[in-house]
Amino acid sequence: MDVEAERNAIDLETLNRTIEDAKEHGNAFFGILGGEPFMHPELLDLLAAHPDAYFQVFTNGQFITDKVARRLRQIGNATPLISIEGREMVSDARRGKKDVFNKTIRGLEACLREGILTGVATSVCQTNIDELCNEAWLRELIARGVHYCWFHTYRPVGPKMNPQLALTPEQLVRVRRFVVEMRAKVPIAIIDAYYDGEGRALCPMSTGISHHVNPKGEIEPCPIIQFATENIRDSRGIFATMRDSAFLRDFRELSAQHTRGCVVLERPDLVKDLVVKHGARDTTMRGTAMAELEAMTPRFSQWLPGEEIPEQHWMYRWAKKYWFNDFNAYTKADHDSTVQRKTRELVAAGAREASEREAELVKG
Ligand code: SF4
Repeated sequence: MDVEAERNAIDLETLNRTIEDAKEHGNAFFGILGGEPFMHPELLDLLAAHPDAYFQVFTNGQFITDKVARRLRQIGNATPLISIEGREMVSDARRGKKDVFNKTIRGLEACLREGILTGVATSVCQTNIDELCNEAWLRELIARGVHYCWFHTYRPVGPKMNPQLALTPEQLVRVRRFVVEMRAKVPIAIIDAYYDGEGRALCPMSTGISHHVNPKGEIEPCPIIQFATENIRDSRGIFATMRDSAFLRDFRELSAQHTRGCVVLERPDLVKDLVVKHGARDTTMRGTAMAELEAMTPRFSQWLPGEEIPEQHWMYRWAKKYWFNDFNAYTKADHDSTVQRKTRELVAAGAREASEREAELVKG
């Protein structure tokens, strides 16, 4: 997301038309990301227009006043997922502003006072892993009344990549183990987006679980692949536009062939090839997405063969079996073949490099 660029927002009519079309074709669950969704002047009107759909709103919580929270409860079809990146100091440093943490907590409390289903999301990185990936933090969230949380991991992409903040392979496994163990121990729901019930990695874009629409209406494979060949304003409607998109299909299939992990982190060269092949346009306001892609070096992602950690809790095993798995996206892929070995080698090299870097840090 280009947070420093001029603001863009999709108008209410286009949003309503898009959601209506998606609902007609059986999709009734939508994630709304930003920028900051609560800065959209018609967000609540949008939610109110679709009582037969459910929305998860990814937010920093700072614009959720008591009045907004009350309206959210009255509308009744949205769960705010509030981003908390650390306790006070870390959170303010990550967001580059003062008092972020307190404002976020005020938004969180407003939601909880209204009895809204509310979650807390954390992008785990070097500066917050020790502080937030522990049972005490989960117990604190439970004591506050938070219903669920989501730990995803920081990905160094975009104009200001911070690879030094990214987790090492060992830390990625540590986060996965923490999530699996806490699910079986602590009474709070924990969401993740990168593993099936057996602990095998997956990519929500490759598996077709989700694609992303940016603030200009451009349909991107996922939020960090900021290229598109189609827009939601296409007169065919979003269902036909996405179904017939050779660009999206190629992205799903090519990345599934090469990795169960994140194609952007592991194979930026493949992403570039696909963008060039389809003549896709840069969908950022800054217009530098290709240069950013070219500046990336391949690194490991959630796909760490041999490190799979299956779910311990029966409910997650059961839920993932039916509702969150790879949906056979990798059935045709042979991740041991010569072609896919290249990805595995790059992943291994990236993992080695990270381990060495970590060892250096420990020594230093
Ligand atoms: S390409 Fe990477 S960031 Fe995008 S959905 Fe897949 S795993 Fe997530």
